[in-house]
Amino acid sequence: MVHLHAVPFLTTETTVGGEHHTVNRQKHDWGVEWRCRWTQERAGGDAVPTSSPQVCADPRPLTGEPLCLDLLNTRWVGGAGEKDLLDSVDGLAVWLRSAGLADRATADEVTLAALRETRDALLAVVDDGSGTARDALNRVLSHGVLRQSLGPEGPLTCPEVDDAAWLPAWLAASDYLRLVAADPRRIKRCAAHPQCILHFHDTSKNNTRRWCSMAACGNRAKAARHYARSKSSGGGSPA
Ligand SMILES: [Zn+2]
Repeated sequence: MVHLHAVPFLTTETTVGGEHHTVNRQKHDWGVEWRCRWTQERAGGDAVPTSSPQVCADPRPLTGEPLCLDLLNTRWVGGAGEKDLLDSVDGLAVWLRSAGLADRATADEVTLAALRETRDALLAVVDDGSGTARDALNRVLSHGVLRQSLGPEGPLTCPEVDDAAWLPAWLAASDYLRLVAADPRRIKRCAAHPQCILHFHDTSKNNTRRWCSMAACGNRAKAARHYARSKSSGGGSPA
């Protein structure tokens, strides 16, 4: 049995189709600058002219979750409805940079399709965990393996994928196995679901976190409870 070690972000070598290579920074150095089309089209207000290349900020309300949940959190509900960072290659570039994968993957249509398929598979296993959902995730996992070796500093675990475009997707799927192995009860979706579709890894001592963020969904729920209480105790306005 392969021991899944949480090293994806530490390794800098990848094997694709039997060929071992280190990341080619020259070739993949698109991460420094890209056009801000995504921000302009989706974020409204602070539009940036498409003619001025610049680094886009990650527009998502929740970042920093483990990779598998961070991939799920590329979809969220904003003021004007549901948003999707992975609705374009530009958005993919933003996500790869946030995920620390900008120098290990190319923002292109093939990588985007692999990630979208993987996101659907992850959402299905998190939400219903059926055999069909597991099959879909296992298809993603079949694109790669973790190869173990002994390096000068000690044991190395290096992900190998059959196609470089599958590396980010495979790492996300593999990361989900890591969380399940640790404690599946800590993989949660925000208690405000379906008004909020974000997911998080509960690292609280007693596993009691309920909201993606207290500032957003937590306070909204508190206000709603307060309103319901004041109404039921006769504090509401007369009909
Ligand atoms: Zn939430």
